[in-house]
Amino acid sequence: MAPSFSHDVVVVGAGLAGSSAALALARRGNRVALLDRASFPRPKVCGNCLHPRTWKIWEQLGLADSFRALPHTDIAGFDIQCEGRPVHRLDFQAQGPRSISRYVLDDWLLGHAREAGVEVFPGTTVTAVDAEQGTVRTSGGEFRARLVFGADGRNSLVARQARLMPPPRRCHRVAWQATLLAPLELDRHVYLQVFEDGYFGYCRFGDDGAVVSLVLDARRSADPVAAVRRYLPHLPEQEWLRMSPITRAPARPGRDRVWLVGDSAHVMEPFTGEGMSFALATGLLAAESAAPALDSDRIAPALADYTRKHRSLYNRGAWVNTFTRWILGEPQRLTHLLRRVPFPRCALDLLSRQIQLA
Ligand SMILES: Cc1cc2nc3c(=O)[nH]c(=O)nc-3n(C[C@H](O)[C@H](O)[C@H](O)COP(=O)(O)OP(=O)(O)OC[C@H]3O[C@@H](n4cnc5c(N)ncnc54)[C@H](O)[C@@H]3O)c2cc1C
Repeated sequence: MAPSFSHDVVVVGAGLAGSSAALALARRGNRVALLDRASFPRPKVCGNCLHPRTWKIWEQLGLADSFRALPHTDIAGFDIQCEGRPVHRLDFQAQGPRSISRYVLDDWLLGHAREAGVEVFPGTTVTAVDAEQGTVRTSGGEFRARLVFGADGRNSLVARQARLMPPPRRCHRVAWQATLLAPLELDRHVYLQVFEDGYFGYCRFGDDGAVVSLVLDARRSADPVAAVRRYLPHLPEQEWLRMSPITRAPARPGRDRVWLVGDSAHVMEPFTGEGMSFALATGLLAAESAAPALDSDRIAPALADYTRKHRSLYNRGAWVNTFTRWILGEPQRLTHLLRRVPFPRCALDLLSRQIQLA
């Protein structure tokens, strides 16, 4: 007897990767369930800077006008400082990243997925997944689908349950984030401060917000307020959100009926501000590669296609992120380098232009 599926695809995680995949699948006429343990809108540890390579994704999804209407700040350049000393300032010639609240952006995309016919299940925590059967056990009951997309972020339960996650490596770094009202003197640059315990980015977002996103080596410092106040002494009292790990070895993108998208498969070093664009791109890639698996249950060739495209996406321009990850894995490496005078500014120029344009 043919197995009975409640949905064509169950997507676990309604962040940018999950919502973009669900939206694209629903537009192709598939029956899609999108589950998230959170209720939206929800906060998210992030630097909020969206890479300009995502503009074409909004166009592909027919959302370009709606995206432009979201409250945002167009970032005018980077300002890199080392232990409070200015090192490098770059003003973008072309359009740079746009900073937008994740509270707003993720909820906006989820709303469009819902409008496209995706059945959304907020407050639903996934507890177990069977990759051969396509079953997903949750706090709200069981789902069964031809394909299960794991879009549940860097600590992906779906990746672990499907045995796609490599053995864990110890990561000593922890991320923190605080949002505040932007002070008048804060211009439209991203201020990147590098110091021996880690680094942080500070920029405007939306209409009048500012965000501090910080990565700290927990062996050297566990106090985000003390770390940031050394360089921003007037930072007001804030609630700090915490997240870990910062880095993780990539997982295999899929096995049988379970495919991974976004951070669940591959986590980028936050410094280069690219994680959201990769999350969105893999969401669309997976939806596109899934078509033959959904039309005729030919899963293996569809997964091979997705795996190939996924690999090639991350290989393109990955040297910048890999280099940044290596040098920031031990932040003292960068501070030692930046203390040297004169520092080869052309190298920093090349690096920041790669981040911007890659
Ligand atoms: C400090 C820091 C700064 C960053 N700054 C930037 C930046 O400026 N620009 C940029 O592009 N990227 C940045 N990133 C990276 C970016 O935030 C991520 O790459 C991006 O959010 C990944 O999206 P996602 O949809 O894959 O996962 P997520 O956004 O993490 O979404 C995962 C979703 O899955 C849900 N979930 C998890 N487990 C379960 C479960 N068991 N059951 C149900 N639901 C579940 C969660 O509630 C969540 O909504 C930064 C990251 C960090 C840590």
